[in-house]
Order: sequence, then structure tokens, then C-alpha cells
Amino acid sequence: MKTRVCRLYGQRELRVEEMDVAAPGPGEVLVAIGAGGICGSDLHYFQDGGFGPIRVREPIILGHEIAGTVQAVGEGVDRVFPGDRVAVNPSRPCNDCRFCREGLRQHCLNMRFFGSALRFPHEQGGFRDLLVAQDFQCERIGPRTSLAEAAVAEPFAVCLHARSRAGDLSGKSVLVTGAGPAAAHAGAAEIVVTDLQDAALAIASRMGATTTVNVAANPDLLDRYKAEKGQFDLAFECSAAAPAVHTAIECVRPQGTIVQLGVAGDLPVPVNMLVGKEINLIGSHRFDAEFGEAVRLIDSGAIDVKPIITASYPLEDALAAFEIAGDRSRAVKVQLTFAETAA
Ligand code: ZN
Repeated sequence: MKTRVCRLYGQRELRVEEMDVAAPGPGEVLVAIGAGGICGSDLHYFQDGGFGPIRVREPIILGHEIAGTVQAVGEGVDRVFPGDRVAVNPSRPCNDCRFCREGLRQHCLNMRFFGSALRFPHEQGGFRDLLVAQDFQCERIGPRTSLAEAAVAEPFAVCLHARSRAGDLSGKSVLVTGAGPAAAHAGAAEIVVTDLQDAALAIASRMGATTTVNVAANPDLLDRYKAEKGQFDLAFECSAAAPAVHTAIECVRPQGTIVQLGVAGDLPVPVNMLVGKEINLIGSHRFDAEFGEAVRLIDSGAIDVKPIITASYPLEDALAAFEIAGDRSRAVKVQLTFAETAA
């Protein structure tokens, strides 16, 4: 069998080409991908050849926000069947290392994560017509959920994991720097979202933000949140931009918490304020069980992720899709569609 794949050869050097795909072996599932979201990390690989110490060192098939239709299953698979529509979890922990055994599978020492250049050889990704996954990576969806919506399960799971790192949100005032799916923070009394782009903020409003602030156009609007040592109980820092990290530390109250989700290389942090205000700075990395939770919340209609999806392009136009995805004034989430989407 042949499949088209979207492979990155170097900075801005993206090619759609054909390769062989094997039939699914024991425990494996052949999925015809229907939708694949372009993530910030895919963009970093495309635009900059990586981020921080993580560099693209060999050609890599990008993509880890994917959903599709099961075409065939290997021996022993009884979790999904041909014809099932599934969100594909890009995580493949070993289930055997010390962290997997501790229940911290996102820290698996042998993690294989689709479309990631973290390890070498790189883990190839899901921007392809046909993909072989492990059966445990496939989460079934119902007939009312589109594959495009199901493909948002991965970034949504990242938000759910960050929320679980933050603890109880009920009644709290929350700052989100760098617009993400604000609705993941339901239960909070107030959700203020900052971004540099109105397009992203408009979507944040539709996703549950109570107030939005364009910090490029109106930085003064943040002053009231910095008053009296800061107003927010909690901040989710999604941008990994130095000014936003600074804003979060300024605007969170003493003994408040900042959950850092945005990823970059080294960033300057105003340690004096961090210490002086006794702020809890917490990292949040990917997700584990939250993937299934994200799929169920989307599939049940408890959360509507459709506003996030701003455009979709067929795989053959991947280069244009990556250019648009890189323009944050126009796009929040750009997805690719595949042979299955048209079928
Ligand atoms: Zn492990």
C-alpha cells in the first residue's frame, strides 16, 4: 500500500510525497486520517527548524493532532473495528519505565510521540493519508462529531492537563496569556485572556473568556490587574513570550499560581518578583488520561471546539496551510484534510 505524507526536509522545505505503508500488525490499527491540526511545534519545526534545544536533524513527517477512520485492524485488536471513526492519541508511552509505573506516563523515559523531533531517530507523525497506530491510541467518536473536531482533542487535552496541574479553579480569577481554549477553565469566576492578535481574542471570547485584552494595542488595560501586588489567583501562560511571562508574574497575587504551558528555549524570568510575591510557578507537559477526557467532552457536546478551527486545506496545499497557520493575525487553528476527507 502507498500513502501520501507531508515531510519536512529543512526550514520551510515541506514536501508531499509517497511512501509505502505496511498492513497493521498485532495490536495495530490502520487509520485513514481525515483531519490533522497544525500545532505550534509543527510551525516551529517548519519556520525555525525546531525550538530551544529540540532541532530537526533528519526529514520528519509532521503532525500529531489527528483523527480518522479505521480501515483495518491487526491480530488481537478488539478496541476498535473497521469503519470506526477515531481521535488518535499521539502518545505512545512504554508502560514499563519508572515513570509509567508511577502513573506519570507523560514523563515516560521511552516516550514515542507522533511527529516529535525530541528523540533521534525522530518519531514520524500523522500528516499522511494512512497511518498505523497502536490500538490503545485510538479513541472512538460518535456520528455527530466531525473528524475536524476530534482532531482538536490533542490541544484540548493539553489544556485539561494544565487545569489539573493548577488545582481547583472554582471561584478563582484566572489570567490566560496567549489565547488558548478558555472554556477549559470553566468554573472560574473570571477569565481574562491576553494576546497580540484580535483574531485570537475574538475566538477566546466565543470559547468562554469574560474579558479580552489586546496587549499590543492596549497595554495600559493591564495596569488595573497589576495593582496592589496583582489581582489574579491563577495564570495560564500559553505564549512562552518573555513579555507575557513578565505580565503573568506582575498580575498574579501573592502566593498565586502560574501554570506554564507555552514552550520556548530559555526565557528571562523576573525572579525578584517571583520570590517577593511567593508565586508558585508550575510547568505543564502534554497530557496522559486527559486525552480520553478531551475526546469525551468534545464528543458529548460539552465543549464546542468548532470556533477554534479557522481554516482547512487539502494535504497537497500543505505549504500554503503552514504559511497561513504561521500568520496569527489570520489563523488560530489550521487543519489539513486528506484523501479520506473527500471520500
Ligand atoms: Zn515509560
